[in-house]
Amino acid sequence: MALLSFLPHRLSQRLTALYFTVSSFSLQRRPRTTQTTAMASMTVTKIPALKDNFMYLVVCNATRQAAVIDPVEPARVLEVAREQGCKLNQLLTTHHHWDHAGGNEALCEQYRQHADWGQLTVYGGDDERIPGLTNRVGQDDTFAIGQLRVRCLATPCHTTSHVCYYVEGGDRGERAVFTGDTLFLAGCGRFFEGTPDQMYDALIGKLSALPDDTRVYCGHEYALQNLRFGHQVEPDNADTRALLERAQAADLEGRRALVPSTIGQEKRINVFMRVHQPAVQAYVGKGTPLETMQALRAAKDKF
Ligand SMILES: [Zn+2]
Repeated sequence: MALLSFLPHRLSQRLTALYFTVSSFSLQRRPRTTQTTAMASMTVTKIPALKDNFMYLVVCNATRQAAVIDPVEPARVLEVAREQGCKLNQLLTTHHHWDHAGGNEALCEQYRQHADWGQLTVYGGDDERIPGLTNRVGQDDTFAIGQLRVRCLATPCHTTSHVCYYVEGGDRGERAVFTGDTLFLAGCGRFFEGTPDQMYDALIGKLSALPDDTRVYCGHEYALQNLRFGHQVEPDNADTRALLERAQAADLEGRRALVPSTIGQEKRINVFMRVHQPAVQAYVGKGTPLETMQALRAAKDKF
């Protein structure tokens, strides 16, 4: 996949689509279990899609207004939204890759065909490669899902226009962040269109600065591979070892249950968020956080 960063965008998008289509063909029949986190102000439902993607439905409990993040399988999203009796009128895109934005057009078409559903607003970074965009957003842009407050975090690197969405609700300050392919449980996205200092800014400058209890909803289920890598980098990290044991013991559904993580947990286990740690720097033989970020990503690409 690293080859893709050298190809023209249109061709690279086609190849990406082909890659993910082939990946999903190779699947056996698999459980389609959703997992729901109910907080006082918001309800977040994790909906597995394709091979290892996650789509998310976020509902404001007070108003039943809802948003979906990266609905690559729109029919499945509409089914879950119907089950929950919410009013889905917002689509949040983390980035243009087909396995995230590939359902935008089909979902928009559904809203065109059903006038009584109202408008579908489509948010995403300023990028013509994202289908159906109505609202282009960048760093610190805000909007609401019912009474929930959303703040956009521009996190270019995996793609130039990648956006994470930080959602806050209620007096108790419940918080969640939807991180697409920037931050995974114990890992981060590949640097397809960006540089190590951009990923440093995203992970250390922006995401690490969120409150520790922020729930982290990432775009893929990569926990086991990421934790294996993290354990190799930091064999003495007890938190990583404990989570790796949970990831290894569990079946796929159990492993999926490790998402959401939290910002606090990621700061303890995610080596890409720990590039200041002497042990992490020593693993790649580098002396600065930025060099460590670059070398760590290169090591993970070959892991
Ligand atoms: Zn991606």
